[in-house]
Amino acid sequence: MSWLTEIARPEIRALRAYEHAVWEPGLVRLNANELPWRVSADVSEAGLNRYPEPHPHALTAALAEFYAVPARCVLAARGSDEAIDLLIRSYCRAGQDAVLVCPPTFGMYSVAARIQGAAVIEQPLTREAHWGLDASALQGMAKSPPPGLRLLFLCSPNNPTGNRLDNELILALARAFEGHALVVVDEAYVEFAQAPSLLARIADTPGLVVLRTLSKAHGLAGARCGVAIAHEDVIALLRKVIQPYAVTQLSIEAVMAALTPGARELTAERIATLAHERTRVAATLGTLPCVRRVWPSEANFLLVEFEDAGKALARAHEARLLLRDFRGARVLGEALRISLGTPAQNDQLLASLTATP
Ligand code: PMP
Repeated sequence: MSWLTEIARPEIRALRAYEHAVWEPGLVRLNANELPWRVSADVSEAGLNRYPEPHPHALTAALAEFYAVPARCVLAARGSDEAIDLLIRSYCRAGQDAVLVCPPTFGMYSVAARIQGAAVIEQPLTREAHWGLDASALQGMAKSPPPGLRLLFLCSPNNPTGNRLDNELILALARAFEGHALVVVDEAYVEFAQAPSLLARIADTPGLVVLRTLSKAHGLAGARCGVAIAHEDVIALLRKVIQPYAVTQLSIEAVMAALTPGARELTAERIATLAHERTRVAATLGTLPCVRRVWPSEANFLLVEFEDAGKALARAHEARLLLRDFRGARVLGEALRISLGTPAQNDQLLASLTATP
């Protein structure tokens, strides 16, 4: 048994996955208590009266081809949110194990950990180093890992700060924590960044897990599809824990369509438009008297510090625009996170803030 399996929860190692009805699409299905007729509003190809494939092979194969990794290293889930949850439920025993997060960062890592009863260890990003990882603290931790630490969640580009983390450092940490903990790098926004994904390093870094999503650059947030990519032993464990039929038939079909060459081309065009808008909006915001600082971003949003974030929020709201308030994260100060919209929406935003005295 590899260490990737050994450090998992013993109950999950021992678990026999649910045995779903036999999947033989060529035969008439009288084995799953479904209705034999489609409803009139059913626009799916396969029919929503039928359960989807329990572990969708065609979808997994398409994602594996898209991400250029073996299919045995891929698990499709209901958003990367579910992939985060599956990792924590598979690796962390309630009351005993822990995850590490680097705030300010995406909140679901610690929420999912707390739901599971796992402890949350915080190693904050360094504001002075443009929200980079504290390399010496993390490397020091790797020398004598805290008892029960099973997962390190690193987000690159990071939400909400927008910066990328150092890929070489992430790989060094994955090697340093070998035998003890997995390093999970959440690349939800990597398509918008000017740097390669760590996916290519899965093959030679067994302790590395990469999370990707169809929700951001691919424009399918409503379909709820995220992907965990890791060593096959990790994926085999997650496959035991995920619900059968997790990804719905409509989502499977939407994702398959998003991965066709025509759709990929459109995605690339939209990524280019957003990158252009990011530069334009950041530059204009930087000239406004109400703006104190625009943090450099490699994602599809900007973290902006205002003189008075409450006032900026209200002005945007008057213009019917919603921004995300980050004043609660004290280290961020008077900060709002602004998702980039269409050029017209961005103009509207800039106009509303320009009017702010
Ligand atoms: N990771 C990060 C960093 C995110 O910002 C988000 C969504 N806000 C997610 C994961 C969740 O994405 P999904 O829609 O794939 O669940």
